[in-house]
Amino acid sequence: MRTLKVLVAVVLVLALAAGVLYWLRRKHSQTPLPTATPSAPFVTQGRLQIYALDVGQGDSLLIISPTGKTVLIDGGNVQAGEAVIAALQRHGVKTIDLAVASHPHADHIGGLRRVLERVPVKNLLDSGQSFASTEYERLLRVTRDKRIKLINAKRGLNFDLEAGVRLDAFHPQGDGKWLTDVRSGGSVENANSVVLRLSYGAFSMLFTGDAEAETEAALLKARFPLQAQVLKVGHHGSRYATSGRFLETVAPQTAVISCGNDNRYAHPAQATLDRLRKARIAVFRTDLSGELAIISDGKQFDVFPTRATDLAALWLGRMGVDEMALVLPKGARKTEQERD
Ligand SMILES: [Zn+2]
Repeated sequence: MRTLKVLVAVVLVLALAAGVLYWLRRKHSQTPLPTATPSAPFVTQGRLQIYALDVGQGDSLLIISPTGKTVLIDGGNVQAGEAVIAALQRHGVKTIDLAVASHPHADHIGGLRRVLERVPVKNLLDSGQSFASTEYERLLRVTRDKRIKLINAKRGLNFDLEAGVRLDAFHPQGDGKWLTDVRSGGSVENANSVVLRLSYGAFSMLFTGDAEAETEAALLKARFPLQAQVLKVGHHGSRYATSGRFLETVAPQTAVISCGNDNRYAHPAQATLDRLRKARIAVFRTDLSGELAIISDGKQFDVFPTRATDLAALWLGRMGVDEMALVLPKGARKTEQERD
């Protein structure tokens, strides 16, 4: 009898251990989120596709219309150029109909210049700012050398991407009018970023480059139809962008932040993440989730991150120079590569 009791106890303990092991295994092999790799399960045929490419600290957004028209907004920094070219190949892009240089900072145009050198590009939409930098000179030189049509952005320009998809330019104002009244420590180049709204039926997405609150105020004042289901968050989630009133008007369901996991700019800022969270907006970050795919049929849209993100990390901002100001020399001049 005693032996039987011991045997039952042993069996019970073993069953419990097996249960715990099974639970642990399940916990660690949770169904992964859909990936944005070629084997991705999502349907792209006949859909509008937008990819926020994984370029580290910088921006690069690829648009493919249902008929295959292609737009590349920025290309990350020069080191990201290869990754952008690889992503274009992965998504079957052989020609770019419209490349966009949102503004002349290196984390947007460095990689774009590499793309212009290697991939056939028909048009370049540029913010048209005069800006003295080696990278910007290189971008303009390759545009001339490759006989790419240079278009200076201005509000009111629009591009037909076929199948009812269009891209409208809201900013800069154009005709030599620039937004120069920026916050102290702010950047005129950022303030005159190309701002575009992509629309397809009931779906829309707003691309704001590195524009901050002063540009947002100008856009609100000009009464553009800013409403969008998806917002590419301005200036990598800087605290000085994505102001409350702007967010209220755009009223996005989803926000995409493009930033690197090793940046000293406090991107994204805790204050920006708090504003997005308070407004109950679904947030996706390239630093945590890698490349993001946004797919729409003109009615609904879905977002497919490459990697699942831990919710606690998602709502946590990064520390940057403001926080580190106490230990850094004051007024250290930003180099060309450091302009964000
Ligand atoms: Zn930037």
